[in-house]
Amino acid sequence: MNLKSKSSKYFQRHALICALIALPLLAAQGQNAPADTPKKDAQGIVLANMDASVKPGDDFFHYTNGGWIRRTEIPGDRAAIGVFNALADLSNQRTVGLIEEAAKANAPAGSSTRKIADLYKSYMDEDGIEAKGLAPLRPHLDSIAAIRNKQELSRALGESVRSDVDALNNTNYHTPNLFGLWVAPGFNDSDHYAAYLMQGGLQLPDREYYLADSARMRDIRSKYHAHISSMLKLAGFTDTDARAERVVELEHGIAEKHISLAENEDIHKADNTWSQADFTVNAPGMDWAEFFRGAGLTKQASFIVWQPTAFTGESALVGSASLDTWKDWLAFHLIEAYADVLPKAFAEERFAFFGKVLSGTTEQRPRWQRGVALVNKDLGDAVGQIYAQRYFPPEAKAQAQAMVANIIASFRKRIDALTWMDPATKAEAQAKLTTLNVGIGYPETWRDYSAYEVNADDLFGNVWRSGLFDYQHDVARLGLPVDRREWCMTPQTVNAVNLPLHNGLNFPAAILQPPFFDPKAPAAANYGAIGTVIGHEISHTFDSEGAAFDSKGRVRNWWKTEDLAHFNAATARLAAQYDTYKPFPDISVNGKQTLGENIADVAGLSAAYDGYHASLAGKPAPMQDGYSGDQQFFIAFGQNWGRKDREAALRQQVMTDPHSPAEFRADTVRNIDAWYSAFEVQSGEKLYLAPTDRVRIW
Ligand SMILES: [Zn+2]
Repeated sequence: MNLKSKSSKYFQRHALICALIALPLLAAQGQNAPADTPKKDAQGIVLANMDASVKPGDDFFHYTNGGWIRRTEIPGDRAAIGVFNALADLSNQRTVGLIEEAAKANAPAGSSTRKIADLYKSYMDEDGIEAKGLAPLRPHLDSIAAIRNKQELSRALGESVRSDVDALNNTNYHTPNLFGLWVAPGFNDSDHYAAYLMQGGLQLPDREYYLADSARMRDIRSKYHAHISSMLKLAGFTDTDARAERVVELEHGIAEKHISLAENEDIHKADNTWSQADFTVNAPGMDWAEFFRGAGLTKQASFIVWQPTAFTGESALVGSASLDTWKDWLAFHLIEAYADVLPKAFAEERFAFFGKVLSGTTEQRPRWQRGVALVNKDLGDAVGQIYAQRYFPPEAKAQAQAMVANIIASFRKRIDALTWMDPATKAEAQAKLTTLNVGIGYPETWRDYSAYEVNADDLFGNVWRSGLFDYQHDVARLGLPVDRREWCMTPQTVNAVNLPLHNGLNFPAAILQPPFFDPKAPAAANYGAIGTVIGHEISHTFDSEGAAFDSKGRVRNWWKTEDLAHFNAATARLAAQYDTYKPFPDISVNGKQTLGENIADVAGLSAAYDGYHASLAGKPAPMQDGYSGDQQFFIAFGQNWGRKDREAALRQQVMTDPHSPAEFRADTVRNIDAWYSAFEVQSGEKLYLAPTDRVRIW
C-alpha cells in the first residue's frame, strides 16, 4: 500500500515498487527533462504554481496547481509529469553520480562497488548487446521448443515463476508469468514467512484489456496482436500471425478466469490455504508435482492461494489448450520479459506497444536513465547504502522522526476522541500504533549481494541471474522467523509505504527532501506536504485492508461488531463519493478499487492537520505571502498532487491502480471541516459538501 503504485513493466522479474503512488509512470516511462521544481527552496508553498483566478471551493486542484499545469508540457518520454518526477530526477542524477564513482573506484571483483559499476556498464554496452544478437536468448528458446508434453510444460511453467508480485506492500498484483510468488509474513502466522501464490499470465495490464467491449480496447487488442507477431518474427519464428492469434486467444481465456483488482484487495477472499495435494484436487489440468519441482518449491507444504478460482481456471487451460499454443505463449513471454536487454529492435518494438500505444509516450527514456533504473532494481540496497550516507544527514532524520512522532500522537488523540468506538476496540487500535515499526530514511540492515554474479559484458545473464537471485532469496526465507524491521523500498526511491503484515512504515531518504520536506520551510508547508504523506502511510494501518490486521500483523477481527458496522458504513460513503469522479465522460473512478488509498488520504490529511497544530504549541501560525497557516497547509497538500497525465496513461491508471487520479486526491480536502473555514468555502461551490456528507473515518 504505497503512496504511488504499480510496478514497472520494463523489468518484470521481481517486485519493484511499494507505495504512496504507482510507479510505472515514473520508473518505466521516463524522467528525461528536469521537471520544473514545484517549490523554491525554503519558501513553502509555490505561488507561481497556483491559479488564484480559480475559486478553491470550485476546483482545488487547479487553484493550487493551475499555474504549473499551464506552463508545463509532458516530455515525450513520459506518460505523466508531476512533483514526484522532479524528485525522482534528482534521485536519478545523484544515483548515476554514485554509479560513476563506483566505476572509477576500480574496486575488487566480487565487491558491491564493482557489481554496481559492472551492471551499469553491461547495460550501457549497446555495441556488445547488438553483436551478441539473439545468442543469449537462444538456449532458453531451445528449451521451450524441446517441451514434448504437458508434464514438461508444467515443469517449465514452474521454472518461470519469480517473486514478482506483492499484494499488500507494493500493491502489485500483476505478473506476466502464469503465477507469481510473494513471500511475506503469513496471514495466520505472522511470525513466519509464508508462500502466497497469485494469478498471472497476462501481458496487458489487467483482465479488462481483454474483455472490455469498447472501441479503445478493441484497438489495443488488435495492436497487441500485431505486436506479438512482430516480437516472434524478430526472434526468428515463422507463421507469426497465426501464433500471435493463438496467444491472444489463450490470454483471453486466462483473463476470463482472473478476478478484478477490487476483488483482489479483499484479503478475506484471499486467505485460502492449499496443501500441495489440494492443487491437484482443486485445480486439475496442471501437473502440479512437476510445477512445484520446476519452481523449487517441493518442500513447501502449503500455500496461501490468493485467487482460488483463477488457479482452477488457469490450470484447466494448461490441460485444455494445445501444447504448441502454450509453447508460443512461453516463448513470447520470455522475449517480452527481456526485450529491454536484447538488441535494440526488441526494445523498440516493446516500447512501440507498451510505451506508445498503452501509455501515449512518444519516446523512450534516455538509456542512462534506464540503466540507473536497472541498477536500482538489481542492486538497490548496494546503491541505497551509499545514497543514504551521502544524502540523508542525521539532522534530517531527527526532524523527520519528530514529525512522525507528532502525527502518530495526533492519531492517538483522534482514536481516543471517537464517540462511536468501543473502549476495547480503541485499545486494540492504540496497540497497533504502539507496535508500529517506523523506518525513516534507510533500513538498519542491508541486503547481501555476495551470491549475485555480475559480469560487465553479460547484460542478459546479469538480469536473468538477478531474477533468480531474488527468487531464491525469497524461497530460502519460507518458514523462517519474520524480520519486522525489514524494508521493501530502497532509500533512493521517491515514495513511501505501509507494510500491514509487519505493522511497519518505510519513508525513504529520497522523499524526505524539498519540496516534500524542507527543514527551512514553514511548518505549515512541511505538514501539508510530507506530513500528509506520513499521515497517509500511518492511516493505512486503519484503512479497509489494514483494519483487518492486529498489532502483531495477524489477520484477526479485533473490532466490536457495532464498531465494524460503523466503520464499514463510513467507508462505503467514501467509496460512493469517489464513484462520482469522472476523469473522462465515459469512465469513472472505481470507489471500491481505490477505497484503501482514499481512506488513507482522508485520515492522513486529518492527522497531519492536527500534527501541524500540535507543532505550533499554542503560538499563532505565521502568515506567509498573505496566506494563513491553515491555508498554507492545505495548499501544500494540493501541490503534492500537481500532475499532468497523457490520456492513455490516465485511463490505464483508472483501470489498474488502487490510487485515485491526482486531481481527486487533491479534492480530499472537501471532507475536512478546517478546509471550509480556511478558504470560506460556501454552499453552491462545486466541491462543497454539507457537513453531514463529509466523510470522517478516523
Ligand atoms: Zn497508500
